[in-house]
Amino acid sequence: MNIIMLGPPGAGKGTQAKRLEAEIHYPHIASGDLLRDIRKEDSPLARQVQGYMDRGDYVPDDLMIKIVLDRLDQPDTQNGFILDGFPRTAAQAEALQAELAKEGRQVELVLYVTAPRDVLVQRIGSRISCPNCHAIYNAYTKPPRVDSICDVCGHIVERRTDEDLNVLATRLEAYARQTQPLVDHFREKGILVQIDGSLPMDEVEAQVDAAAGMPELR
Ligand code: AMP
Repeated sequence: MNIIMLGPPGAGKGTQAKRLEAEIHYPHIASGDLLRDIRKEDSPLARQVQGYMDRGDYVPDDLMIKIVLDRLDQPDTQNGFILDGFPRTAAQAEALQAELAKEGRQVELVLYVTAPRDVLVQRIGSRISCPNCHAIYNAYTKPPRVDSICDVCGHIVERRTDEDLNVLATRLEAYARQTQPLVDHFREKGILVQIDGSLPMDEVEAQVDAAAGMPELR
């Protein structure tokens, strides 16, 4: 099954996508993680990407589309994938659908994870992550087992440079203007399931599992 995770920063898309990946064994492809890996390089592209991300702006469509479609060309995506953070614009959605259609593939499920703005701000303010393996933690509700050390890979965890609350305002504005319209687009196609990301974790997980495991219930 080809799944898209849609929703504002801090709603819990990444956490749910990683959990789904472990359960259903489709690769979790997070556009933000692809960009963070590019940023580690010493190249003009890395510096360009860093500029957009640190301002909270979207990376331009042509560049973003190329990065994600190249990743979707890899053989591990052929039976299914969990795409997190892409598409974020109408142009990205069109490019994705056109590319998949060429190969007889399509998006089958869009998990739209939402939460009120105050919850998003609070979560982003306390989120820490691993720059090496991209594991996600919360300083208060889900800290690493050993202080500052990633449970998964042992690297030192950190706060992302774009998770400053001043940058978050720009990210939320970009989301509202460019990404929120995609909700209606996918809802009209009949493939969107809304998940309340502000509920307790076990309830969010149950909603996600019901949607991903039993598409006939939608
Ligand atoms: P994320 O990790 O999904 O919150 O993404 C972090 C940042 O990467 C965003 O604020 C954007 O600057 C950039 N980014 C990630 N995915 C996309 C996308 N699909 N289109 C444009 N920019 C993106």
